[in-house]
Order: sequence, then C-alpha cells, then structure tokens
Amino acid sequence: MLQDMDIGRLENEYRLIGPEAGDGVLCFRGAEVLLQRREDDSLCLPSYAQWCVEADNWKSWNNNRLCYVFRLQNRNYFLFLGEGGEWYGDIYAYESVRGLRQLTSKEICFAIMTGWHLFNWYKNNRFCGRCANPTTPDEKERMLRCPACGNMIFPRINPAVIVAVTDGDRLLLSKYAGRAYTRYALIAGFTEIGETAEQTVAREVMEEVGLRVKNIRYYKSQPWGVDGNLLMGFYCDVDGDSTVHIDESELSMAQWFHRDALPAKDDGISLTREMIRVFEEGREPK
Ligand SMILES: [Zn+2]
Repeated sequence: MLQDMDIGRLENEYRLIGPEAGDGVLCFRGAEVLLQRREDDSLCLPSYAQWCVEADNWKSWNNNRLCYVFRLQNRNYFLFLGEGGEWYGDIYAYESVRGLRQLTSKEICFAIMTGWHLFNWYKNNRFCGRCANPTTPDEKERMLRCPACGNMIFPRINPAVIVAVTDGDRLLLSKYAGRAYTRYALIAGFTEIGETAEQTVAREVMEEVGLRVKNIRYYKSQPWGVDGNLLMGFYCDVDGDSTVHIDESELSMAQWFHRDALPAKDDGISLTREMIRVFEEGREPK
C-alpha cells in the first residue's frame, strides 16, 4: 500500500517555521490541488519560490496564510490555508484530489492526501464550535485554540474498518451502490461512538451482507487523507450460514470468490487491494 512505498521518512512534528524557496506548496481550490507539469510531462508540487510569483497577485494571499505541515523525503511542505486563485499559463494546472492515483508519484500522492486532510481540518475549524469566535493556531502543537472560551480543537481523524470476510478459501468481495468507485471492494464502515473496532467489524458485516463473523483478527492500518480517515484492516471468518443478503442502499453486489479466482489486483496504493492480494497468496493472519 501507499505507506509501504519508498516515500521517505515522514517527519510530522509540529514546527513554527516559515517557508524557504525550495519548499513544496500544497495549494487547494475546491477539491483540486495545484500541480506543476515538468518537461517530461510528470506532475509535481510547485516550490515556494515558483508559487509566490503568481500567488502574489491573489487577493486572498498574505504571508500568514502558509502553514508548515510536514517534512517528507528531506523537503518541507507548506499548506496554503486560503483558496487557490487563478493560475495562468500551461505549466500549472489544478487536478482533482480524488484522481491523483493515476497522476502522480506515490510520494506526491501521499503529500497531497495528507495536506488535503489538514486543509479541510483548518478550513472547517476557523471558528469555535462552542462560542463561534475565531480560533487561532497553538504554538506548541497542531491544535486550534479559541481565545474567547479556551476550547481546544485537535485534528479530526475518523476511525473506520475494512473487513476481509473469509470462508475457507473464499473471500467476500462487494461493490458499492451509487458511488463513482465501481471496482470490487471489501466491507467497510465507520466506528461509532462507544464501540470497539472489533464490534464495528461485526456490526458492519451484519448490516451490509447479513453474515455473522468470528475469529476477528487485526491486520494493518492506513491513513486515508482523501476522506480524513484512519482505516483499520481486519480479517475474519464467517460464522455459520454463508448466504449473503445485501443491504441494497449500501451495496450493488456481494459475492464469494475462490482464492485462485479473485478479480481484483493490488494497485500498490490502498490497504483494501493489499488485503485482497495477501489473501490470494494465503498469507493472511490465521
Ligand atoms: Zn470558543
């Protein structure tokens, strides 16, 4: 999956520093990110020096609105907290955050997904949810503070599970209903307040395909910044009747596939695809 690739060490300790010429800039507009096209047609994030030339003309721009977010592959990244402005010429282009898998290197893909998660958190918490006054960034850690009432707002990460339900040499694959994503997936869902991740697994499987499960075992986790999630992957065994009854509001289909005939290939990005491959190779935790 994406995080296993050679994307270099992520250094995400909070630091109060300003940008330098060669640092990368994450600049979003709507659900798109600003990318620069290199001479070989590959895409990369603009450097601070390049970005400044054009952003100087934007009304929303001022020096305080770039925020250090992390260091990756020995490069510092800064997030523009405003909305990206118009960019002229054909060297730069806004590209959909959701379409990045096909577009860019894994390192850049990871930087954009993580930057997007933080961008949305900053954007959604400019005002205190308790008293409606403007919030300010804390100086020691990544946290927004309300100077009026003292409310402390930490980055929001939504825990969710991905579940590989197995029945001997068979794995249950499904497809979502009513979504743009039409490939095979595993059962997935958000953890509700008050339940353990294992309880989420059992509940989601029952709700979506009407199966009881047992022997729930943890595999691996993956941050998925596009949706602000932390995904936790589990394998489990069907308990008793393996007849599937799908929730048609959630799924368009769900079907058992033999280990030797799985119709999904690993894309090197998502935990879901890795879990399918690991089962195909018989290496899932027993
Ligand atoms: Zn407040």
